[in-house]
Formats: sequence, C-alpha cells, structure tokens
Amino acid sequence: MSGESVEKKPKSEILWKSPEVVPGPAKDGLAVGMAVHVEKEPFKPWTYPLPTYFTGDDHVEMKVTHCGVCHSDIHTVNGDWGAATWPMVPGHEVVGIAVKVGKNVKHVKVGDRVAAGPQSFSCQECGECKADYSQYCDEGWKECFGTKLPDGGFTFGGYGSYHRSVGAFTHKIPDNLSSAGAAPLLCAGITTYLPLRNADVKGKKVAVVGVGGLGHLAVKFAAAMGAEVTCISRSSDKEALFKSLGASGSINASDLKKASEENAIKFDVMLNTISSTSIDFNLYLAMLKARGTFIQVGAGPGKMQIAPPTMIMKGRSLVGSLVGSPQQTREMLDFCSTHGIEATVEVVPVAEVNTAVEKVNNSTAHFRMVVVHPGHENDL
Ligand SMILES: [Zn+2]
Ligand SMILES: [Zn+2]
Repeated sequence: MSGESVEKKPKSEILWKSPEVVPGPAKDGLAVGMAVHVEKEPFKPWTYPLPTYFTGDDHVEMKVTHCGVCHSDIHTVNGDWGAATWPMVPGHEVVGIAVKVGKNVKHVKVGDRVAAGPQSFSCQECGECKADYSQYCDEGWKECFGTKLPDGGFTFGGYGSYHRSVGAFTHKIPDNLSSAGAAPLLCAGITTYLPLRNADVKGKKVAVVGVGGLGHLAVKFAAAMGAEVTCISRSSDKEALFKSLGASGSINASDLKKASEENAIKFDVMLNTISSTSIDFNLYLAMLKARGTFIQVGAGPGKMQIAPPTMIMKGRSLVGSLVGSPQQTREMLDFCSTHGIEATVEVVPVAEVNTAVEKVNNSTAHFRMVVVHPGHENDL
C-alpha cells in the first residue's frame, strides 16, 4: 500500500471494533522502531527498552498501529531545536491498541483503540495545568519522545512498535474514525482546532495559509465551525481540491504582493501553518481586517519579521498556539466524530518512514503522511 492516497470518509455503518485477539504487551519490555541515531541521519531499525517509568497504576501501554509524520519530528531529528537525545524514535501522533492499563485509568480498557499526542505529561499543579492549558505548564514541555524521565529513562514515540503513556494523556478514539485518519488529529488536528475554536470563527471570514498537513485540517475545522474559508497557497491548480475540503475560495500566493493588495483588509482571522519564517508576514497581515487575528501555528527555526505599524495601525493581534490539553484534545475528537472529520492521509509501512519524511520535506504529501506498523495494514 506504499504511496496509496486515501480519502477516508467516516461512515456510521463502518465502526471500529476491538480485535478478537488483543495483542500482548511488549515482550521483555522491548520495542522495535525506526530511529535516528545521529542528528540528520536517515531512520534505521532499532530495538530499545520502553520506559519503565510508565508502568504504574496511572499508565497505559499500547501496541502501536499507526503514527502520523509531523514536520516537528523532522525538525527535531535535524537538530533544528537544539539539544536532543540519541538514538531518537519520534512520532507524536500515536494510535494503537491498549494492551496494559493501570488500575487507576478508568476511561480506557485493554483492547480499546487509543491515542497519545505530543505531550507526555505535565505537573498538574501550576496555574496553566489547573486552567486546562497543561500544554503551557510552568514546569516546561515534556515531549512524548526524547524526554529524559525522572528515573533516567527516555520517552520514545510512535515510530516504535509499542508506546507507554500517562493514562490522563491517553485518549479513546471514537469508533467512527479510522486509525490512519485519526492519528494526525493528535497534533495537526488539535493544533488547528483549538485556536480556531478560541477565535470563535462562526460566521467569520477565515484564511488558512498553506494547505498541507495542518492546513487541510484547519480548512475542515473552520468550515465545520461555520466560517467562510479561503485557502492561501502557491498552488494555483488546486481550487477544486480546496473546495472539497470545505473552502469557498482560494488565493494564489505565488505573487504575494499582488495577492495582498487585491485582498487587503478582507479577513477576520488568518491561520498560518507555514513553518518557514522567510515569508513576508507583513503582506499576509495586510489581508486582515482591523482588529483581526493572525494565528501562528507553523513552527520552524528563524524569526518572524513584522513591521510594528502593520500591527498597530489596524489594531491587529498576533497569537501563537500549541496543541491542546487532554480535555481539549478529547473535545476535538468528539467534534471530529460528530462532523465526520478525519485527516486525509497517505499511508506507508513504518519501514519506509524515510520516504514519508522526503515527501513531507518536498511538500508532496497528500495531505498527511502516516506510517503503519506490520500486521496492521488492513486495520480500519
Ligand atoms: Zn506535531
Ligand atoms: Zn503544570
């Protein structure tokens, strides 16, 4: 099924069912996955010990079936964000079958289909955690791969055959969503859902900049929330495709100056999914109405260059947003279940993750790459 493009429409009559034979826990606590051993090197198979820190009453072990390939995984293994731990098994859009569930975890049972996202855990004590914004925990970000744990172990992500997580940060997936289509919801989905929900986009004009892994989900969400959505993209030939996602129109950004002039002060909200910081932010901002909101979710290295008057003279706001808390993530999964929203994905075997990375780097993924683990190729 390498390179197969799948538009999975969730159908109420096709529901995920727990497998008759639930896979067993990881043998000897070992997983096998695709790892990067040295910064910027290709992925190679690796067998490694799962973190023993996550084997208590509050934890879940899953047999991973699918994992989305997020641009952040690639930034991390390229060392774009500084210090990292090696070897690294990335993947923070993890979907699998629960094979071990701690007794304090009440919302998941063995055999359930579960998912874990980028945040491994948080302090649960600080103001942000208590305000249901644990992604901004005062104690810092704990990624689900490459994080050193208090007992000296490390977290490993969904490019590995098993994943251990904190129950409170593990979610049951609605039965009417496919595993491959649900995986990208855990990062790309919540990253775009939450700021659109917080911007209260119903009845507003929303522009989505960059229609890739994040952007295509942003279009689906904003349309389902009742916004009038315009795609801003350098692809001039994808109008029909954008409309199929729920957009009502598109703007060709290949001549950005012209596009900016023709669409000046037009949008209430603009969500930018492009991770490059070499774009001219001022030309994009000029398309926002007075008091409009520019939401930045594309996260790459570099600096955003914005002339202060671009913000000041129209009272525009610039906001950032990072994934979501467990509660916000569950709200998003429920929204997806109700509105039949999944990621549009291309699935490749996990052994071919280097091909998936190449497609993400070349922006040729349609729209999100997902890796599938051996034995789960035919799973819903
Ligand atoms: Zn991500
Ligand atoms: Zn906290």
